[in-house]
Amino acid sequence: MEKNLEIEISKTNRGKEQIILNRKYKFNLSSKRKDNSKKYKCTEYKTLNQCPSFIILNNENQILEYDDSHNHLENKFGAAKSIVKNKIKDEISKSSIPFNVNIKRTYDEISQGMGLICPGYNSIKSQVTRSRRKQLPPDITTFDEIPNESKYYKTKSKIKSECQEHNYVQFLEFLGYFKKTYLINFETENWNYYGNIEHITNNVSETFNKNLKKLFAKKPTFFQLLSELQKEESKYYIDDERRTAGILRNKKQKKLIRTEEIKALVKYYKNMGILLKKKRKVLEMISLNYG
Ligand SMILES: [Zn+2]
Repeated sequence: MEKNLEIEISKTNRGKEQIILNRKYKFNLSSKRKDNSKKYKCTEYKTLNQCPSFIILNNENQILEYDDSHNHLENKFGAAKSIVKNKIKDEISKSSIPFNVNIKRTYDEISQGMGLICPGYNSIKSQVTRSRRKQLPPDITTFDEIPNESKYYKTKSKIKSECQEHNYVQFLEFLGYFKKTYLINFETENWNYYGNIEHITNNVSETFNKNLKKLFAKKPTFFQLLSELQKEESKYYIDDERRTAGILRNKKQKKLIRTEEIKALVKYYKNMGILLKKKRKVLEMISLNYG
């Protein structure tokens, strides 16, 4: 066994175990064996290099075997980056810093503290953001509140594996698009109105758009546009006032009023019926007794 082999345990972007050797080479977990030993393959294995180097650790992370036949240059920068990234992720998830934590500061503190060659801040930032989003249930504000095995995360991987099973390629593509657009590019609170608004369709805005189209000539001049918009705007203000005052009623309200009127009439006639029956009984009794 070679001497001076120093290993550090890190994680890949996808959360898989990664071993960093002498801060030069990276190895990803490839298989677990029956005797609990683990085989890690050099990360250059999957590239054009197809590096054959591997390392085997026992369950106490002691090196059992190391094949150092790397066919590429050592990558100090890449290895350092992985260590810092992992350390930062760890620090953030351990601490109770709220979500709006200043990543830059954390990054500076930790990377300085580690005395390492500093990998790019942007790369770290995206890494941290990614690890946050991975376990992001909707109303969590601090990292402390995130359960280790987040349900949200589990559901996502379940959907993914089911799609793969049934070959729903298009839906998977859509999920990818959805994640990129709505979970990464835009903040959820900017588009998700779950439980917040009355109208869950955009019919109102569609109707408004249709009406506006009718109003204008194909290419109105700026001042035509402005004047028409002003007219429209004042109309809506007045309509709103009248609606609130109960002068203007929409179809639904009118219908409701009619229904109420009918209900009242039915009730009235029922009461009259009961009253008539009572009167008739009283009259019958009178005629029986005195007739
Ligand atoms: Zn290698």
